[in-house]
Amino acid sequence: RAPGGEQVALAPSPSAAATRPGGEIRIGGVSKSFGPLTVLDNVSLTLRSGSVTAIIGQSGSGKSTLLRAINHLERADQGFITIDGALIGYRQDGDTLYELKEREILKRRVDIGMVFQNFNLFPHLTAIENIVEAPVSVRGIPRVHALAEARNLLARVGLADKAGAYPRQLSGGQQQRVAIARALALKPKVLLFDEPTSALDPELVNEVLDVIKELARSGTTLVIVTHEIGFAREVADEVVFMEAGRIVESGPPARVLDTPDHPRTREFLAKVL
Ligand code: ADP
Ligand code: MG
Repeated sequence: RAPGGEQVALAPSPSAAATRPGGEIRIGGVSKSFGPLTVLDNVSLTLRSGSVTAIIGQSGSGKSTLLRAINHLERADQGFITIDGALIGYRQDGDTLYELKEREILKRRVDIGMVFQNFNLFPHLTAIENIVEAPVSVRGIPRVHALAEARNLLARVGLADKAGAYPRQLSGGQQQRVAIARALALKPKVLLFDEPTSALDPELVNEVLDVIKELARSGTTLVIVTHEIGFAREVADEVVFMEAGRIVESGPPARVLDTPDHPRTREFLAKVL
C-alpha cells in the first residue's frame, strides 16, 4: 500500500449482498460504428452470474463503448444484450428490429449500475443525498428507508462518518467510494466500472480497489475496465483483451495474462506490465 492512502475499514455487508441475485449478461454480435469508424466489431461475450470480468486493452479499443452498450447508454447498430435472459433495449438482426418500450428500458436499466472514471457525483449534494437521490426519485422508495440504507452503504464503503460531506470536501478515493455506494443503492444485478481508479492519485487507488474486492467476494456480478493488471489477476474470473473493437482473447487471468495465445495480447501486456 502506498503511503498516504486511507486504510479503509469496510463494514461487513449487512445483507447477504446489496445487489440482487442473477446478473448473467449475454452480449451477442454487437457492432457499433461512429461514422466510418467501427468501434465495436461483432462482439460476443457471456458473463456468468456472480462473476468478475476485467476488460483490458489500449485506449480507443472500444472498452467504454462496450460498457455503455451494456447499460444501454449507447445504442448498438447490430446485435443484442440480455441480462438474465431479458433483453436490454432492443435486438437488431440485420434489418429486423425488436425494441422494448421506453418504460421497459428504464426498468431494466435499474438492473445495471455504473461507476465512472470521474465519479460524476452531484456537487451540490452531500454524500448521503447523492446516494438517496435515485432510490427516492427513480424507485419511489420512502426517504426514511432510503436514508437508512444509504447509511449502511456508506459504512460498507468505509465512509460512515462522511454522510454530510460534500464531494469537494472528499478525496478522490472517498468520492469514488460514494459513487460505488450510490450505484449499489439501486440494488443492481450487475455493476459496471469504467476505469474506476484512473483519475485517482496513486496513493488513493487501493482504497477503491479494496471496496471492489469486497463486492467481488460478496458475489456481485462485476465488469471492470481497468489498467490495473495486478488487480485483474487477483480479482477477475475472466480477463477480456480488446483491440480495435474486437475481443482478441479472453479466459482466466492466469492464462490470458501469463500465457496469452495472441501476439497482440503479448505486445499489450509487455507495454503495461
Ligand atoms: P476505450 O474506452 O477503449 O478507450 P472508447 O470506447 O471510448 O475506447 O472509444 C473507442 C473509439 O470510439 C475511439 O476511437 C473513440 O474516439 C471513438 N468514439 C467513442 N465515442 C464516440 C462518439 N460519441 N463519437 C465519435 N467517436 C467516438
Ligand atoms: Mg474508455
